[in-house]
Amino acid sequence: MITLQRGHAFHFHRGIVSHDLLIGESEGITVRATSGATLVALRPTFAEYVLKMKRGAQVVYPKDIAMILLHGDIHPGAIVLEAGAGSGALTLGLLRAVGPEGRVLTYEIREDFAAVARANVEAFLGKAENLEIKLGSVYEAIEETDLDRVILDLPEPWRVLPAARTALRPGGIFVAYLPTVLQVHTLVEELRADPSWTLVSTFEALVRPWHVEGRSVRPEHRMVAHTGFITSARRVVPPAPAAGRPPADDVPGGGAGEPEDPSGEEKLSNEDG
Ligand code: SAH
Repeated sequence: MITLQRGHAFHFHRGIVSHDLLIGESEGITVRATSGATLVALRPTFAEYVLKMKRGAQVVYPKDIAMILLHGDIHPGAIVLEAGAGSGALTLGLLRAVGPEGRVLTYEIREDFAAVARANVEAFLGKAENLEIKLGSVYEAIEETDLDRVILDLPEPWRVLPAARTALRPGGIFVAYLPTVLQVHTLVEELRADPSWTLVSTFEALVRPWHVEGRSVRPEHRMVAHTGFITSARRVVPPAPAAGRPPADDVPGGGAGEPEDPSGEEKLSNEDG
């Protein structure tokens, strides 16, 4: 991945290509290096850019960004709070999905990472007026209210739940990306303990590339085996406590967050359904 500049040259193991051969030409053309080797010139896609851009923190992999955008239901015009910004990979995905009518606010505790994130976003998207990077810990407080989505990629997302519950509008979606099951377990337990959250679900995305050549059609030998788990939940208005005990069916989300559950049996059926 190179940035074209007049008079400059790209050196690689099979020769040299002058940038001037490309400037002003169409994307997709083939050029010849000094050695005679041919290269095709293409602008990087978002997924390609994310894997090549400058890193501060470890980025969210493209397969997971895709799933977070889909399961987080990130839509044009949405107001999204993110933390932490890291290298800005997920931030970029969020900005592209919310579009110019939407807004992304991202918290980052490290000033150096905030600068990397801003630079990475702007190198790809240009000036992003609808991105605000806040220096500070999202564990301390969330100042915004009426948010559509809260998307977290940091070590202890359960510490954000009390603030996220207030900041998210009812119906809003919470998503957290976590590398280990112990973290997932803590988060899910906390979500289930609070009736403001429902439809708590966790999954991981495995992408297995295939080798397709002649009669050799099979999965590739190598794949990215583990990156992270995605947990999501919906913010709801907690059901008013009823005079008697309500049947489990009346409770949104199958009663996932129902405070009293003496039998334990309903809890089991909640987890199944
Ligand atoms: N999603 C990012 C990577 C985030 S890595 C990307 O795709 O590029 C996790 C980031 O969270 C790190 O940059 C870390 O500094 C930041 N972080 C950790 N705890 C935080 C907190 N309490 N508030 C804000 N940011 C935090």
